[in-house]
Amino acid sequence: MTLSHPPLSPQWHAALRAASPVLWLRPDRAAPAEAAPYTLADVEAAQARFARFAPLLAELFPELRATDGVIESPVLAAPRMQAALKLPEASGRLWLKADHALPVAGSIKARGGIHEVLEFTETLALARGLIAPGDDYRRLAEPRARACFAQYQVAVGSTGNLGLSIGVIASALGFRAAVHMSADAKAWKKARLRARGVEVVEHPGDYEKAVAAGRRQVEADPHGYFVDDERSASLFLGYAAAALTLRGQLDAAGIRVDAEHPLFVYLPCGVGGAPGGIAYGLSLLYGAHAHCFFAEPVQSPCFLLRMMAGAGQLPGLPVPPSVYDIGLNNQTEADGLAVPRASDLAYAAVGGTLAGAYTVADDTLYADLARLHDTEGLRIEPSAAAGFDGPRHLLGSTAGQDWLRTQGLLPHMARATHLAWTTGGLFVPADEYERFLRRGHALAAGN
Ligand SMILES: *Cc1c(COP(=O)(O)O)cnc(C)c1O
Repeated sequence: MTLSHPPLSPQWHAALRAASPVLWLRPDRAAPAEAAPYTLADVEAAQARFARFAPLLAELFPELRATDGVIESPVLAAPRMQAALKLPEASGRLWLKADHALPVAGSIKARGGIHEVLEFTETLALARGLIAPGDDYRRLAEPRARACFAQYQVAVGSTGNLGLSIGVIASALGFRAAVHMSADAKAWKKARLRARGVEVVEHPGDYEKAVAAGRRQVEADPHGYFVDDERSASLFLGYAAAALTLRGQLDAAGIRVDAEHPLFVYLPCGVGGAPGGIAYGLSLLYGAHAHCFFAEPVQSPCFLLRMMAGAGQLPGLPVPPSVYDIGLNNQTEADGLAVPRASDLAYAAVGGTLAGAYTVADDTLYADLARLHDTEGLRIEPSAAAGFDGPRHLLGSTAGQDWLRTQGLLPHMARATHLAWTTGGLFVPADEYERFLRRGHALAAGN
């Protein structure tokens, strides 16, 4: 990627290192085709795989009967949240993509995580003659298939939600499942997995350590399959398939996306796979008319650092950089986003095409979580609130306004759509959610 960037001011760098919120904007986005590691056909193949498995999923998960096995979430208008965030209507309309309500996994991880386990299952089942192309995949619920799957172990390293998605789908299909979790993983996520017969292995370190430990353990097992969050094309394409559904939902809602109707998408980012896959899919469908921003905790801006390093703005630091390299500690209540180093696969795919990235303080996550509850009646987890700070950053800052002007977007803002991706929350236990809400309300009252 040959992209030129103006140097950032010393004050900007100081704010990043001091864990203050920052907004980073790309002046010169690459055309998606330039980076394109996957094609639209690859993304459509992921969507088709979900469709082949849908009848089986409807049989395995009662909660999917109503949708015939389709795992999807609605796109919702959020006018009351928009008012609470004080976002002027002259700058567009606020919507959200409600992945916090995705069934089975309760988070955006239902897309990538489940897709990868389905792809592994399909490959194995075809190789073992359990199914032939074109068969009804409900045959995979029969004893012969399950006896085969029981010989295999599916494992993953996770801060929580990826483990929930992989563990639940793998054990439902009959695999042995193991989830290697970091110290910051929430107790209820571990308990939920154990209740489903998933082996939970706890590691004292962070997300990277849990992944490394999981990878090592599975390498030693000839019947082991490791879902590699940092390097998996299958995960990435499972996420990217969301762009296809989203396009249909925007069409159905009468939302246009073109030069006069810009789409701004705000995606909470951990390692970068989920938001990267979605941003990639959107760039294939909408090109430069979809402006994607990644949202990260102030202590875990790993993807932002990766993009800065790519733009030559982090001289003297290792590439890829980790948040520890600039003195941050990766401590955040947004457990889904607590990742020290970005995925190279995700960076290679979208690092050059994103509009920008910003960081969010934990207090802001809680305040926005409570706002969303009070205005729209939706329950999300702290990680999932990170998208809502995006329009505030973009519309409410001089840097954001300058960027909109230089991109030629200012004349079109009244017809813009701002889409915050709410990435998780469905299975947060009631007492835990009440704590989130109390903390959010206390912060809002103090404002
Ligand atoms: C995992 C996760 C993300 C980010 O996904 P990555 O692939 O790690 O970037 C965002 N929100 C929630 C709730 C998550 O669990």
